[in-house]
Amino acid sequence: MNLQPNAIPRLAIVVPCYNESEVFPFCLTTLGSYLNGLIQKKLVQPDSYIMFVDDGSKDDTWQQISAAAKQNPYVRGLKLSCNKGHQSALLAGLANATQADAIVSIDADLQDDIEAIGKMVQSYLAGYEVVYGVRASRQTDTAFKRMTAELFYRMMTVMGVKQVFNHADFRLLSQRACAALLEYHERNVYIRGLVPLVGFPATEVHYDRKERTAGVSKYPLRKMIALAMEGITSMTVTPLRLIAFSGMGVGLVSMLAMAVVLACWVAGYYAPGWGLVIIAIFFATGMQMLCLGIVGEYIGKIYLETKQRPLYHIEEKDGFTPHNSSTIP
Ligand code: UDP
Ligand code: MG
Repeated sequence: MNLQPNAIPRLAIVVPCYNESEVFPFCLTTLGSYLNGLIQKKLVQPDSYIMFVDDGSKDDTWQQISAAAKQNPYVRGLKLSCNKGHQSALLAGLANATQADAIVSIDADLQDDIEAIGKMVQSYLAGYEVVYGVRASRQTDTAFKRMTAELFYRMMTVMGVKQVFNHADFRLLSQRACAALLEYHERNVYIRGLVPLVGFPATEVHYDRKERTAGVSKYPLRKMIALAMEGITSMTVTPLRLIAFSGMGVGLVSMLAMAVVLACWVAGYYAPGWGLVIIAIFFATGMQMLCLGIVGEYIGKIYLETKQRPLYHIEEKDGFTPHNSSTIP
């Protein structure tokens, strides 16, 4: 790969926040001093900044963000009008990370190792435009989350979706890669499936994921399943194809069964076997309903895409002006 080194970037760190009142003070001070360290080391420009996106929190997260943006020149706050979900909040942050040369996205609970940000910037300076944060281990996740996540990644790979294993939404994008990502005008967003489609020189940075410092996960099983469904249906039509194949398979089996029944009839052997018939009816009905459900899921997605509804609305902005070019004291 022929890499062209990049100049020292103005870095924007985008942090989506939903009901993160407990975590926010820790997140602000930790990220703030880390960013300051990067500036001291001359890895990023002095006018780099952190942008917190409040995803319609019900607690005082926005009040805290807004106060921090008024006090600190390196903090910007963006408030969405209501809760739109992590993916939309992240997109809102990326779209509003103006004048930044490189943008890092990270979760507010800082479970992802912030030291990896420095390594991402080093990779950017070397010429990479997409740097994926990859979890070296998932020891802090529950066995259930580990297992389901692994199963999901494998399933996506089998279905032909290019995705970086053990990478969530902790990554660095160059301004060019970010602009390219924003050109995907999809309602049905699964960012970690879209980024590999953008292209540009890409690399990985490995880190160990920590426990949440405070508060509880904002990704309960319900949201995890919704994200997985979004991921599958937005990235691949393989499930629809599988339905057709399984239909052919069932068709073949039924032909085989017909041959057996015919042979038994010719041989004069008659078995009542009504239990079997009932099981077969229920099984076939269940399969049909499942297949219809999958088809329905895709039709639903087409319906939502055709509406082209906006993904989010911005209610308030703080810290964007007038001190957005000053340095960290
Ligand atoms: N988040 C968000 N909107 C939501 C749910 C979550 O912006 O509707 C944010 C949340 O504040 C955090 C990030 O997305 O910064 C990831 O959430 P969390 O850490 O709870 O997920 P987990 O690490 O448990 O998968
Ligand atoms: Mg987390």
